[in-house]
Amino acid sequence: MNMKGRMALILVCCLMAAAPAFAKTVKWNLAMTWNSTLTPLATPPVKLAKLVSDMTGGQFVIRVEGAEKHKAPLEILDMTKGGQYEMGHTASYYWKGKDATTAIFTTVPFGMNMAEQEAWLFYGGGMELMQKCYDKFGVYAFPGGNTGVQMGGWFRKEIKSVDDLKGLKMRIPSVAGEVFAKLGVNVTNIAPGELYTSLDRGTIDALEWVGPGMDIKMGFHKIAPYYYAGWHEPASDMQFLINKKAFDSLPPEFQAILKTAIQAVSADMFYDNFAQSAEAWSKMKTEFPNIKVMTFPEPVLQAMKKATDEVLNDYAAKDPLFKEVLESQKAFMAKGREWTKMSELYYLQQSEKVNK
Ligand code: CA
Repeated sequence: MNMKGRMALILVCCLMAAAPAFAKTVKWNLAMTWNSTLTPLATPPVKLAKLVSDMTGGQFVIRVEGAEKHKAPLEILDMTKGGQYEMGHTASYYWKGKDATTAIFTTVPFGMNMAEQEAWLFYGGGMELMQKCYDKFGVYAFPGGNTGVQMGGWFRKEIKSVDDLKGLKMRIPSVAGEVFAKLGVNVTNIAPGELYTSLDRGTIDALEWVGPGMDIKMGFHKIAPYYYAGWHEPASDMQFLINKKAFDSLPPEFQAILKTAIQAVSADMFYDNFAQSAEAWSKMKTEFPNIKVMTFPEPVLQAMKKATDEVLNDYAAKDPLFKEVLESQKAFMAKGREWTKMSELYYLQQSEKVNK
């Protein structure tokens, strides 16, 4: 072989070494509950697709589809289960009507905060319980990003007592919705893409969405300026759902890459949402002085807590898995909260005294 031939052979060998040694190219579709513009909720799937493609040299391609295209934001579980989409990105509590236990993998009113909940999921048996719940649907479920503490929502008028809640038409999903229903609220769940229109048209009087980073750009404050502190979604987790047959048929390398990328983009969503909320909050007082930041009066909070316990205990009495998950969460929170108080709460109280 002459010099030119040897160089060509070396080049081919180098290219072979550089190319990923995956046996086949995989193309998947992922459906989101969110419209593509609803960032940062809609961000993890987009980042996941890029990461997975980059890590496989373009051999594992995930096409991400927003709700504006598939038009079925609250059917992600069925579409993933049925295999129309190999993956979904959604929030578990949207499936409470199919299985109540799914609701408490998203969040629980007055329950764990983000650090406590993620610790429970990854190191307190939560992931195993979540999979036990989702096995019946033929899907794998993974944490898909956490919003942290959500705001309690936008109201047209001040809530001075429980009586002020009575007859109010409000969008508030899942367990918190049942809690408000017990307190006389006319509760509905509306797909995320239709929130502003519903508020604007008076289909609803009040709604909760996420927090300042997402809420303010939706414009809710123009109609309902009373913005209440949160109680109902202290650590809402999104979920990536994956059709089991599709996942099980992946090469092991792709499975490992997908799981690793899911964890990376899910953690990233919390940072992204926190940064956007901090930015929005810092500008809110000057740019939108009509927004009135409120806290619910203590008797209202007491009524919410009492109703929350009733709703959760009713489900636990009817459903052994719900009971198992709830007890696991309560046990973890009992330990975790003591540490949260000593670390985060004590630190915040002390540092606030001297940082002024
Ligand atoms: Ca919410």
